[in-house]
Amino acid sequence: MANTLHSLSAPSGTHRPKRIALLGATGSIGENTLRVIAAHPGELELVAVAAHGRHAELAQIIKTHPTVRHATLFTEPGHAALRESGLSPHVKLHAPGIEGLESLANLPEVDCVLVAVVGTAGLRPALAALAAGKDLALASKEILVLAGPFVMAAARASGARILPVDSEHNAVFQCLQGHAHAELRRVTLTASGGAFRDWPSERLADVTPADALKHPNWVMGPKITVDSATLANKGLELIEAQCLFDLRPEQCAAVIHPQSIVHCLVEFTDGAMLAQLCPPSMTFPIQHALLYPRRGAKGTDAALPLDRLLKLEFRPADEGRFPMLRLARETMQAGGVAPAIYNAANEVAVAAFLAGRLPFLGIPRVVERTLAALPSSPVSELSAVLAVDAESRRVAGEQLVSS
Ligand code: MG
Repeated sequence: MANTLHSLSAPSGTHRPKRIALLGATGSIGENTLRVIAAHPGELELVAVAAHGRHAELAQIIKTHPTVRHATLFTEPGHAALRESGLSPHVKLHAPGIEGLESLANLPEVDCVLVAVVGTAGLRPALAALAAGKDLALASKEILVLAGPFVMAAARASGARILPVDSEHNAVFQCLQGHAHAELRRVTLTASGGAFRDWPSERLADVTPADALKHPNWVMGPKITVDSATLANKGLELIEAQCLFDLRPEQCAAVIHPQSIVHCLVEFTDGAMLAQLCPPSMTFPIQHALLYPRRGAKGTDAALPLDRLLKLEFRPADEGRFPMLRLARETMQAGGVAPAIYNAANEVAVAAFLAGRLPFLGIPRVVERTLAALPSSPVSELSAVLAVDAESRRVAGEQLVSS
């Protein structure tokens, strides 16, 4: 009798590499994705890349990845600079803007589209990838927060898979393999607690942008680093998890876990919990999503050093100290366009904080006032959600003055 376990875990026969389109190649997720692809030659192949405006960096990526055949830059000036930089004749430069992102997401030779575009620009390309039946490796939070029902419906319609790249959602996805939805009782996402986890509450009023950008565990962009200090990042992730795993608001919870080693706790109806553990490096969820359903023959980064002392600590996530968590819960309960308002108001408030125009504690105040000022109507169609997004930004801008 052949060793069944062994034959299950071995790669099944010959296979061609999975071909990847990477939208958002020059950000921190993009950088990690390039490392994962480089660490898995023969398994993953980069064929299309897009970035926002950093043309020199994108040109460098194209040069170091000779498998790339398609590229674009979102901004007009960046696009023009990339065109003038003399791309290889093997590389087709697609249109700038959302149109170009969509055409990359639609390429017949692409198997998996990784969307790591900041903001709402990734939405239409994500929907295009799903409509074309491609795997969507999803890193951009805004897409599910804004348009979750549309994105999930697009995946159901074509049978395409959504593979979460965010570490917590990827962790939940891993824990749910082989379990029926009805067996799921609760999903708890862990939060590092951000830069001010151990600060006394009274000091939070004086927090500067420089303080907020010192994240204890993860190296990320400025917006998400501030979001992890306010726990708005966890709030957005709870909203995403609700949508992605079809949960009721009361089935979604957060807990502070300073070490960022356990990424989720999934509780089942029998009371048992499964957790997913790995070092706090984005290469783990990225390689899982890109190689799924297979496991890589090796990891991109070193695994947990279990021969050393690992301390795993959990503390309650206090909604009084982290009002963005309370607002996220209320947002999930309100449903409809409330998550879109929460997201837009938070973006406006964080930008104002980073520009020195809003105190740290003003961030939740702006979000709360914007949510109160706008009705949370049900979601009718995609264009209505995008209109609410724009309106929320305008209203949040007005709240800045008084917060
Ligand atoms: Mg996360």
